[in-house]
Amino acid sequence: MAENPRHPGFPIPGGPVLRAKSWRAEGLLRLLENVLAVGEAPEKLIVYAALGKAARNWPAHAGIVKSLTEIEEDETLIVQSGKPVGILKTHAGAPMVIMANCNIVGQWAKAEVFYDLERKGLICWGGLTAGAWQYIGSQGVIQGTYEIFMRIAARRFGGSLAGRFILTAGLGGMGGAQPLAGRMAGAAILCVDVDEDRARMRREIGFLDEIAPDLDAALALIDAARTEGRALSVGLIGNAAEIYPEIAARGIVPDIVTDQTSAHDLVWGYVPAGYDLPRVRRLREQNPEELIEAGRASIARHVAAMLDFQAKGAEVFDNGNLIRTQAKQGGIENAFDIPIFTEAYLRPLFCRAIGPFRWMALSGEASDIAKIDDLVLEMFPENAIVTNWIRLARAHVPFEGLPARIAWLGHGERTALARAVNRMVAAGELAGPIAFSRDHLDAGAMAHPNIMTEGMRDGSDAIADWPLIDAMTLCASGADLVAVHSGGGGYAGYMTSAGVTVIADGTGAADGRLNRALTNDTALGVIRYADAGYPEALDEARQKAIGHVKLTA
Ligand code: NAD
Repeated sequence: MAENPRHPGFPIPGGPVLRAKSWRAEGLLRLLENVLAVGEAPEKLIVYAALGKAARNWPAHAGIVKSLTEIEEDETLIVQSGKPVGILKTHAGAPMVIMANCNIVGQWAKAEVFYDLERKGLICWGGLTAGAWQYIGSQGVIQGTYEIFMRIAARRFGGSLAGRFILTAGLGGMGGAQPLAGRMAGAAILCVDVDEDRARMRREIGFLDEIAPDLDAALALIDAARTEGRALSVGLIGNAAEIYPEIAARGIVPDIVTDQTSAHDLVWGYVPAGYDLPRVRRLREQNPEELIEAGRASIARHVAAMLDFQAKGAEVFDNGNLIRTQAKQGGIENAFDIPIFTEAYLRPLFCRAIGPFRWMALSGEASDIAKIDDLVLEMFPENAIVTNWIRLARAHVPFEGLPARIAWLGHGERTALARAVNRMVAAGELAGPIAFSRDHLDAGAMAHPNIMTEGMRDGSDAIADWPLIDAMTLCASGADLVAVHSGGGGYAGYMTSAGVTVIADGTGAADGRLNRALTNDTALGVIRYADAGYPEALDEARQKAIGHVKLTA
């Protein structure tokens, strides 16, 4: 275990000593410890996205830890909404953990039902990667954010963001990646957050360059960086619903505008304009209805300013926080004139099942990640997205918690890399096993009609069969952990997703799991988009001979 200056009570796991009976169980235990070590409020089990939790409550957490230390190779731990409910006899090729988090039947899947069940201690929202113990800190979304910025650069700004101004908000668990991604993309980026502590923390860990004392100073810093074509990230403490309209009123039009406040959750996340943090914290317990009403009105102003920037020529997009949905409910009829990032920029990648794959060094040794970086560069020299990213990430992205790396790899590439790493573990070339996982926001793994599957070519946006099929496929493939999550808070009724983790412990059994699970996971992603009629997916399916059925356009 290593010290964790950010959260002293939550040390970072590592080292050669096992507490569990196998590396598979020990690996999953370390991942659970890691999501808390890098989480936003681990004392409340909160990892990110306002209320995304690692376990339902502390007794449930203790039960999971005990189960993972005692579980045998031929058993499977069942976790229901963050609570361990049993260990069943399965077989050595079966998953070691399967979990379902926050799934509520259709007519009841609403924010108020979720809050009620959560208050009664019956349910827990796992976010995407929090409840499935796959979160790796802000690094988890950083390449996605960087790729979005670079696609906008290619489409609108001649391939470069030097001298360009990005305006955004939210410096939390996921939003905290924005200043670093913006700087890596070469832009001058201004990030607004109401919570000074969050901004300070992002500066301390090297994700944010500086915090401006007020809007005038922030704009002056951005202006100077723009003029010099210098990359810079600036934080500003304030409410985005006040700052965005103020910037618009001054006649300033940023080049790119987005937002990553926790707008999806009007009780535990978004802070309405005119409310300070202590008042919001009190109202969360005493009068959540007031917060919902004030939050919606505030988001309406916030999004109206974003639409104003869009009308004046800025590239404006929704970064996956449901802000348009809330704004529409708050009376902004044309909120959906703002596009969602997946459809606008990333869908061609998802069609080829290229998405946010990641790996974590269970030893805690950064040198393991450095060796895998070298391997990636050697294995995929023609893949410009990945080689460019690995070189940038090495230079700019600090590790949080267990050393980890994310890289957008696709079908075949993920399997080849993971199996090669497993051979390195077997040969003793790494200090310990490596866990492979991915974000739930991946090709075959998510139905979310306002984020991942908005505007699908065949209209299949709201069909949640795909993540369920994905999870079942992953169980059939013997992945070590398989999770099915649905939305909580404002996301209730909006999404279903599947998650997977496989531990490369150097054994032949791990080689089989990695081969089957990672190959089938991405194959299903390509099949999902091919089924919807995307030419890129049909092409990928043909080129890589994916699936036994004949896919038609
Ligand atoms: P978080 O709760 O950790 O952080 C949210 C931040 O927003 C906090 O720092 C909070 O102080 C700030 N904030 C709230 N209201 C504000 C306001 N009115 N003005 C300025 N700042 C305000 O959440 P997170 O993990 O960073 O996630 C942010 C959002 O992004 C969530 O809705 C989450 O679901 C979504 N998300 C999107 C993706 C993606 O792939 N695009 C990935 C993960 C999360």
